[in-house]
Amino acid sequence: MNTLDFYHNYLTLIDDANEYLDYDKATLNIFQTPQHIATDSKTLHLSTGETTVSIYRVQFNDARGPFKGGIRFHQDTDESEVKALAALMAIKCAVVGIPLGGGKGGVGINPRNLSTNDLELVAREFIRSFYPILGGNKDIPAPDVNTNGQIMSWMLDEFETLTGGHEPSMITGKPLSLGGSLGRDYATSQGGIFALLSYLEGKGEGIKGKTVAVQGFGNAGYHAARILQGLGAIIIATSDSQGGVYNSTGLDLEKLLQHKQEHGTISTYPNVEHLSNQALLEVNVDILIPAALENQISADNAANIKASIILELANGPITKEADTILDMQHITVIPDVLANAGGVTVSYFEWIQGRTGDQWTEEDVINKLETIMKRSFIDVSNTANKYKTTLRMGAFILGMSRIKEASALRGRITKPRT
Ligand code: NAD
Repeated sequence: MNTLDFYHNYLTLIDDANEYLDYDKATLNIFQTPQHIATDSKTLHLSTGETTVSIYRVQFNDARGPFKGGIRFHQDTDESEVKALAALMAIKCAVVGIPLGGGKGGVGINPRNLSTNDLELVAREFIRSFYPILGGNKDIPAPDVNTNGQIMSWMLDEFETLTGGHEPSMITGKPLSLGGSLGRDYATSQGGIFALLSYLEGKGEGIKGKTVAVQGFGNAGYHAARILQGLGAIIIATSDSQGGVYNSTGLDLEKLLQHKQEHGTISTYPNVEHLSNQALLEVNVDILIPAALENQISADNAANIKASIILELANGPITKEADTILDMQHITVIPDVLANAGGVTVSYFEWIQGRTGDQWTEEDVINKLETIMKRSFIDVSNTANKYKTTLRMGAFILGMSRIKEASALRGRITKPRT
């Protein structure tokens, strides 16, 4: 994975969208440069030995509301990756019209070999590094790759210890007993599926009987597979970082999950065909769901993709070159900034509940999510049709124009004096 390319890829998308928007240099700058990059380096005494880690929080843009975005623990995480993810968060919140900006955090560490105590130490150190710039009115983290509700709980506790008092709205993705929202664990997947159903509805099609491959059997991938199977789709392939499994008549997802919990991977699951992650992307299916990491579909493999629809639950799984190839092959991509926005949308609901002390029912949460995702799909689709372009460009044009409007109202875009 080349994370430098990921940020470069984002910048080229901004340039492409600007072919339609024609913004001047000062306006474009708000999409090209983060407002604030915070970095730290710490030597931690972990059970695996003394380890020095890099810690990042990028606050990309807060014109529409407080910075918002997850925290990733991954060995390949670096400043460039976190910058790209923060920028995508800003666009995403604008696309779904919620009053939040874009941020992201990361720690460059492989959590696979860490004990529970180690993970708690890393979580608390992240907060010790950045707590003055975090908070419900400033910057609100959440889970991302390799982080979860337990890690959010330690982070909340560390923040409240350092600042005094309770502030549940400073972080989302919390367990229910600490002020989490019902529905948050599957919100990303459910939101993507609402967008997918809207797309299919527009074509006069349903989901029943459609075949699906899911790359990444983590939070986003597992719940997407589970919900789609419940709607009558057939999940024939899925994978994790160690490899994939395939069964042309459909996989038993609960048994797969149990195997993963017992063995740490699904790749050793018995009595199915095994395939590489690369092969998984090229399986003959109706719908492909990348739900792992960025830069998975590139110029090297885009021509081999056989799915007719790609639902991007991961952030940035398709490179720009690949996007062009997929478009030429008439493969529809429902882009990350729309497809995985259900996660931040329910984080927004959790933030509201944290600020008001209110507790919404799961039905309330999912109904409100459905309204936002379906409306946002129509907004993106209408924008794409108006400019005769792809759904990704439609989403970028929509998101950028909303951020530009807020920035202009705040007087942040300086015009040259005449
Ligand atoms: P997760 O850690 O729960 O799961 C990630 C999964 O991907 C794991 O099963 C891991 O083994 C697998 N994986 C890692 N590298 C892989 C590779 N090279 N090939 C195949 N599988 C690989 O993370 P998650 O929260 O499900 O996030 C997955 C993606 O979705 C990320 O891009 C994340 O930014 C995005 N996303 C997640 C949320 C959310 O709410 N969880 C919201 C928006 C976007």
